[in-house]
Amino acid sequence: MKITQVKVRLFEMPMPKTFHPTWQPLPTTSARIHIVEVHTDEGIVGVGSGGVPVRWEVAGLFLMGQDPFDMDRHVAQLRSMAFFIGRPWPVEVALWDIIGQATGQPVYRLLGGGADKLKAYASTGELRGLEARVESAQQIVAEGFKALKLRFHSADVREDIRTLEAVRKAVGDDIDIMVDANWGWRIAPDLQPNRWDLKTAIAAAKEMERYGVYWLEEPLDAYDYDGLAELRSHLTTLRLAGAELNRGPEEIRTYLDKGCLDVYQPDCTFIGGISTARKIAAQVEAAGKVFSPHTWTNGVGMVANMHVAAASSGVPYIEFPYDPPNWTPETRDFIFAEPLRIDSEGYVHLPQKPGLGLELDEEKLKRYEQADTKRLI
Ligand SMILES: [Mg+2]
Repeated sequence: MKITQVKVRLFEMPMPKTFHPTWQPLPTTSARIHIVEVHTDEGIVGVGSGGVPVRWEVAGLFLMGQDPFDMDRHVAQLRSMAFFIGRPWPVEVALWDIIGQATGQPVYRLLGGGADKLKAYASTGELRGLEARVESAQQIVAEGFKALKLRFHSADVREDIRTLEAVRKAVGDDIDIMVDANWGWRIAPDLQPNRWDLKTAIAAAKEMERYGVYWLEEPLDAYDYDGLAELRSHLTTLRLAGAELNRGPEEIRTYLDKGCLDVYQPDCTFIGGISTARKIAAQVEAAGKVFSPHTWTNGVGMVANMHVAAASSGVPYIEFPYDPPNWTPETRDFIFAEPLRIDSEGYVHLPQKPGLGLELDEEKLKRYEQADTKRLI
């Protein structure tokens, strides 16, 4: 089998409600999915997405005429491309989709995974007032989720603590609550002046221990290795989580060497593809730490990370981006024939078709395809 084309397509759907995520200063009014398609001479087309859409089609320069199964070689080439142009990892995801289709197996099974479902946590994305967040948490739990993640991003962290206290009271002690401070990386950092210093992070984390928070995510800059290690040394029950957008295994090794984190969240569409994420999951497990990948890009990126998680050991939860009414499965998966949902026990099931197992809706692809694929905003 030979690769014949690498093509990028853009799909965009106006959202019924505006979404105000904590990690960017501007609200989101439309859902956008850049897809990279890798075509082969046998008619199999692999699909990837997630990460950041930067000239993925450049990978065609060295993939053309190559065998998609020659994975280590392609990862090395893509790593070189990542160094000069930007992260091309959805292309690697598309190669795995081809391999899965060619062999008739879901990707997670090719990677050695046996679990066909993962326990999901509802990952909210907005800051809301106390009452609105309590109501949302109650709804999330009523739908079957066993865990949910709150965002801490108010100018005064005591406001977020009050919300945490109220949510804990409302959902009870059997539900795991995670907290994401979203200070690991910034979009437009000049517009986000409330970054926590180490003392604030320690004080906030100690409060979280009082409410039995499961993990605290990204309280400090992702490259503040010493700060993270010191913060972690102050904690007894609270786990520290991070590494969602890190670049490559070297940064993960530094976290492990310095004792920065308990929960490692590399996203395969940012860190080096499914191959690299799988290796990192093993590295994390061998160090006695926990792997639980970030998934929040779009539905395709989420599914790619689900395959890695299902093939990894000891993954407690998978991130399920969910903050209705402003961020819903219908928005996240708007080009899918059916959006992914949890079952009544709070599990999300791996697609069982070969490859990533995506079923894209041809009618929606036609309706939402954009002519200018270079547009980012
Ligand atoms: Mg996060």
